[in-house]
Amino acid sequence: MSVDSIDDLPTVDSFAGLPPEFYTRLEPQPLDQPRLLHANTEVARMLGLSEAALARQDFLDVCSGNRGLARGHTLAAVYSGHQFGVWAGQLGDGRAHLLGEVMSPTGNFELQLKGSGLTPYSRMGDGRAVIRSSVREYLAGEAMAGLGIPTTRALAIVTARNPVYRETVERAAVVTRVSPTFVRFGSFEHWTHHPEQMRILLDYVVDRFFPECREAQAGDAQGEHGVLLRFLRAVVARSARVVADWQTAGFCHGVMNTDNMSIIGLTLDYGPYGFMDAFQIGHVCNHTDTQGRYAWNTQPSVMHWNLYRLASSLAVLGPEPDDLRAQLAHFEQDFLNAYHGNLVRKFGLRSWRDGDDVLVDDWWRLLHTQRADFTLSFRRLAEAPRNPEPFLALFSDREAAQAWLQGYVRRIEQDARPDGERIETMRLANPLYVLRNHLAEIAIRAAENDDAGEIDTLLALLRTPYTERPGYEAYAAPAPDWARELHVSCSS
Ligand code: AMP
Ligand code: MG
Repeated sequence: MSVDSIDDLPTVDSFAGLPPEFYTRLEPQPLDQPRLLHANTEVARMLGLSEAALARQDFLDVCSGNRGLARGHTLAAVYSGHQFGVWAGQLGDGRAHLLGEVMSPTGNFELQLKGSGLTPYSRMGDGRAVIRSSVREYLAGEAMAGLGIPTTRALAIVTARNPVYRETVERAAVVTRVSPTFVRFGSFEHWTHHPEQMRILLDYVVDRFFPECREAQAGDAQGEHGVLLRFLRAVVARSARVVADWQTAGFCHGVMNTDNMSIIGLTLDYGPYGFMDAFQIGHVCNHTDTQGRYAWNTQPSVMHWNLYRLASSLAVLGPEPDDLRAQLAHFEQDFLNAYHGNLVRKFGLRSWRDGDDVLVDDWWRLLHTQRADFTLSFRRLAEAPRNPEPFLALFSDREAAQAWLQGYVRRIEQDARPDGERIETMRLANPLYVLRNHLAEIAIRAAENDDAGEIDTLLALLRTPYTERPGYEAYAAPAPDWARELHVSCSS
């Protein structure tokens, strides 16, 4: 069941049906000589779009922003937010255009262009995005989806001749992002002093994404503000889940501002993100983040802080502050449950036991001290009890690694789990291929020469990141020396 033209996708006015103060209706700005760099057949299938549809002129027209969807209402949404811990006031889609909401066999998805030109929310920006950041966003969604981490996706990437001025002159590109919603914590913060609009947004989001919050179950928050409190409780749970997934994938978001936090717990707004190579507990992937606010080890507490900002904005509807706090108080346990669950799989344990936090703390310390490769350390641990050499080769202080490994062997002996079963679960929890910065960089350099071959290769590996592919050893290897010079920043 699929359609052969993007214009034939059935749509529904969902966000576009909210009152006008939630957005500005406007057209995207066309690109100069747009060219389809890559189309995502998996996401197309998810949307009910045939492969033939991706080769048509109307697909390029829509995905380049030359015109809107035949059955959509193009708009830029308004939101606000806290950036680097400071209230930034009104922000909004400064270079993004929502094209419409598609009703697909697998659910409803919004299509949104990023880099598609100026909007009333562009502030000092130019409304554009460059090939570099667009390829990074395009690849990241697929890499996260391949790892099973909640994320927005992307349907296509279009490049153009328009010059875009960043540190150097680069070329423009537009990514068509796909998500059930692009509503953020900041969308709520925008209405902090406006109960009427806050109520409308809350109802909209609850009806579509949290319908279960309409019904109180035993033990749930009750009373006049029950729906609001159960909604906050659910957002706490989803946000704790996604940040736990980031931690155990060695992923750093880079800009955990509240305007980049998805209300449905997806990874949203891929900018200066990074998958760690050499593990550093305080790794900061964003060169612009000089204070290290969004370091790997601060991500869970930053998420908690962001949830406080969301809860504070919901206070305008009149719930008791103590009731809001009670929902937020679940964050730590929600996070630990998700984090321990992930670690149980990554270490091949039967379940989390008292004392395992010591083993895990020692693991992080070992990796940190030795600057060991995050992804390969986990990947090679599975075989290490019977064949330690490939694992130990990742550490400069082999004795320290050996000592930790002995503790690990004692721990898995307590589980008395068949070794084959342990190794198999670990293989499915510890990827071999992740989107290392230098791999993205190689794909970017090719894309800047209109070559999407590396994107194809990376997508093939990253969609099944647990499956070893002969001939692709280089894609699993730690970053080469030249990659140490790579810096990613907020500039995009
Ligand atoms: P970010 O940190 O990328 O999430 O962006 C923060 C805010 O700045 C959002 O409101 C973006 O829409 C806006 N923004 C970022 N880059 C640009 C740009 N080049 N042109 C216009 N707005 C931008
Ligand atoms: Mg953003």
